[in-house]
Amino acid sequence: MATQITNYQCPACTGPLHFDAQSGKLSCDYCGSVFEVQEIEALYADNLQAAEAAGATVNEQSAEGTWDFSQDGGWDDAGMKSYSCPSCGAELICDATTAATSCPYCGNPTVVPAQFHGLLRPDYILPFKQSKEDAVRALRSYYKGKPLLPRAFADNNHIEEVKGVYVPFWLFGGRVEADMTFNATRVHVHRHSNETVTETQHFQLHRVGTVDFDRIPADASSKMPDALMDAIEPFDYSECKKFSTAYMPGFLAERYDMASDDVRERADKRAMSTASSMVAGTAGAGYSSCTVAGQKLRLSRGKVKYALLPVWMLSTRYAGKNYIFAMNGQTGKFIGDLPISKGRALAWFAGIAAPVAAAIAVALQFFG
Ligand SMILES: [Zn+2]
Ligand SMILES: [Zn+2]
Repeated sequence: MATQITNYQCPACTGPLHFDAQSGKLSCDYCGSVFEVQEIEALYADNLQAAEAAGATVNEQSAEGTWDFSQDGGWDDAGMKSYSCPSCGAELICDATTAATSCPYCGNPTVVPAQFHGLLRPDYILPFKQSKEDAVRALRSYYKGKPLLPRAFADNNHIEEVKGVYVPFWLFGGRVEADMTFNATRVHVHRHSNETVTETQHFQLHRVGTVDFDRIPADASSKMPDALMDAIEPFDYSECKKFSTAYMPGFLAERYDMASDDVRERADKRAMSTASSMVAGTAGAGYSSCTVAGQKLRLSRGKVKYALLPVWMLSTRYAGKNYIFAMNGQTGKFIGDLPISKGRALAWFAGIAAPVAAAIAVALQFFG
């Protein structure tokens, strides 16, 4: 059985549809008609179910319950996967985790529904809000005023290659109970006629707090550098939609290739250190100094959700090294690296350290 891939076609003229980040709707490349995501979902419901199931039949037969896609078309030696384009019939060679792409021959956006069947089905998708024009503009202004930048970066044709990717993320929930003690001091300075008396009072403080968190993100793709993905946080998860492939045409998408257990340690650490610093933040007020004397942190892991989050990416190869630019496809926050002097690089990384820390707090959602 062939792996099926789907092209969303315009109900008016059968031209290819793409998801438009600005309007949040699907728009036709040929006649310009615009459709609500729900309309197109309804139209394609049967088609998608069949395509997902076609992939699933083989998944369920695969050995040891592993999620590999070894059906017709199959892997080639490099672990790639081939599909045939529903529009022009050309053979598409994709990475094994590719879930949405566009045909290199006819240019039509294609989606591989079987990549989202059963356990592989994301809970949420966060649609793109930043358009390609926004990403190109951000890149141009980032490169502007850097006269020493190699041409490989600032070349217009290269900048136009920026790609919108739905990156797989695990979102971890849970609770941290923190029991902390602090050594604090209060210093009073008294002035008498000809002497100054410094009086230091010592306190031992005890604080107990519970921090619930809902969605600590960790990217689920081995190809994405973790630090880069962390740096473009936060995402506003209130805009997440129930998963649908109708948000994908025109973008690339990957399914996860790292299980939630592979990445959850990062989320655990983040939860613990955030809870610790939040509880510590309640202790210092009114004291001259306050340091942590001891802490007991107890983590209870909660629900894990699977989400696809929007990222604009551009990779530039220069002097044997890859430089990556990434922009949050929802908020426009971006990060990139350039071949620059060491001193300047350090300043740059010091600059991003703060937003990363701030992002953690925003990623948490607290319950009463
Ligand atoms: Zn049309
Ligand atoms: Zn094609």
